[in-house]
Amino acid sequence: MEFLKKLGIKKKNLGASTGLKWYGSESNDELKIYSPINGKYLASVYQANEKDYEKVIAKSHEAFMAWKKIPAPLRGNIVREIGNKLREYKDPLGKLVTYEMGKSLQEGWGEVQEMIDICDFAVGQSRMLYGSTMHSERPNHRMYDQYHPLGVVGTISAFNFPVAVWSWNAMLATVCGDTNLWKPSSKVPLTAIAVQNIVGQVIKKHKLPEGLFSLVIGKGSSVGEKLINDKRIPLVSITGSTGVGRKAAQKIAARFGRSILELGGNNAIILTPDANLKLALPAIVFGAVGTAGQRCTSTRRLIIHESIYDNVKEILVKAYKGLKIGSPMDLKNHVGPLIDKSSVEDFKLAIELAKKEGGNVLFGGNVLSGKGYESGCYVQPAIIEAENHYSIVQEETFAPILYILKYKGNVEDAIEIQNDVVQGLSSSIFTDNMQEAETFLSHWGSDCGIANVNIGTSGAEIGGAFGGEKETGGGRESGSDSWKAYMRRQTNTINFGKDLPLAQGIKFDI
Ligand code: NAD
Repeated sequence: MEFLKKLGIKKKNLGASTGLKWYGSESNDELKIYSPINGKYLASVYQANEKDYEKVIAKSHEAFMAWKKIPAPLRGNIVREIGNKLREYKDPLGKLVTYEMGKSLQEGWGEVQEMIDICDFAVGQSRMLYGSTMHSERPNHRMYDQYHPLGVVGTISAFNFPVAVWSWNAMLATVCGDTNLWKPSSKVPLTAIAVQNIVGQVIKKHKLPEGLFSLVIGKGSSVGEKLINDKRIPLVSITGSTGVGRKAAQKIAARFGRSILELGGNNAIILTPDANLKLALPAIVFGAVGTAGQRCTSTRRLIIHESIYDNVKEILVKAYKGLKIGSPMDLKNHVGPLIDKSSVEDFKLAIELAKKEGGNVLFGGNVLSGKGYESGCYVQPAIIEAENHYSIVQEETFAPILYILKYKGNVEDAIEIQNDVVQGLSSSIFTDNMQEAETFLSHWGSDCGIANVNIGTSGAEIGGAFGGEKETGGGRESGSDSWKAYMRRQTNTINFGKDLPLAQGIKFDI
């Protein structure tokens, strides 16, 4: 495939890199990658072992010693170049994202665009790492706080955003003066190798320190655990399931490391009697079936007022009947494959459990077979009438299942249902009623990190801080002031007087 060649993906690839060199050997465990689109073999990776990890982290740490001394706007210049390189490779990299992960080609290109956008954002941010100045209570004293680089930042990413999540973390960390060590999901390592090759060109051209951008592809249980327990990594950003994040965060906290947790969601859209259904329908369907329901922000619950429930049910089923399911390389298709057969099993199981608890499958739920579906990863998105308290509705199933729930009463009753899950990532309301919209956004409204009005739950822009509350982990990445997580804060007080007054008026005469 032409795009693999353009991105420097070989038939067999090493799994550890410092940006300048690749480490590992052909005796390491070989990880074979097949496309969920058609089951075809793409390439393989010799997974990094603990020895390779040691080489890479040592370089990343050494690189930090040099990189932190570079003025932030000059670090920004390097990130600008990375953004420009990504512009050059947008087409092949977007295609690889699609081929390896299975999201639509529009979304594959969109994911690379997101990387480019965060580069632009980080370049600007490199001149805006602002601290505050404070008025001291002591005469002839000045106080301020400033932000310093932190160290090596570890990024552990999930399969569903194979490259964008890395860039959200790495581009900000880089302008903040940190170096980067990335452990991508073993389900999508080729996109990580491609990015590493692209970034490597910038590293070589500017003779940047080896280890500024490092990569380890390996098992969560070996190199992942090493990274989590490594004191040389003061910050680990983890994007993944709540189960993995819960365990990892405890280990990081035990060594007084910091973590950014971007974990599972259970996102809902509320439809009130004042909802504009013309706006709502495409947002619901894109949110529930886009990326085959494999976005952390996918719409999983639809909370509908009883007065419009039957009407919404009808138009929704009609819309689902029109969905085209097939190869995501074909721009006409709406729904592509799930990442692998184990996700298909999870999909089937969730539907069985929902039925057992009293759920009524209104549409879909089948696994597709036959021409075009040979990989065994294609399913027909499901709509299930359910109740919020069902244990399966309380969980995140990473597949296109939409639970529809009925509410009576006013918008506060709908918000109560929406908030009554352990996750707190994305939420949205469709209403033309200003009181309902403002109640939803108020401090007694949605308890999620993201709350939208007349927009669905998925499809965030990079300019805002991204993340969620409760078991979604409380982390924030990307825009707004998320950059602060990648730096350490220092408060400075300078005495330019001739006396030494103590704070709080304390007297100490000698
Ligand atoms: P996952 O939890 O299976 O894996 C996530 C990452 O953790 C992978 O790189 C994996 O190799 C690694 N890992 C697993 N065990 C580890 C260990 N012991 N030590 C270190 N690393 C380990 O998740 P997934 O299936 O790749 O992705 C889907 C999940 O990610 C969903 O729950 C989804 O909601 C979540 N997600 C959240 C966000 C967000 O921003 N909140 C974004 C994307 C995905």
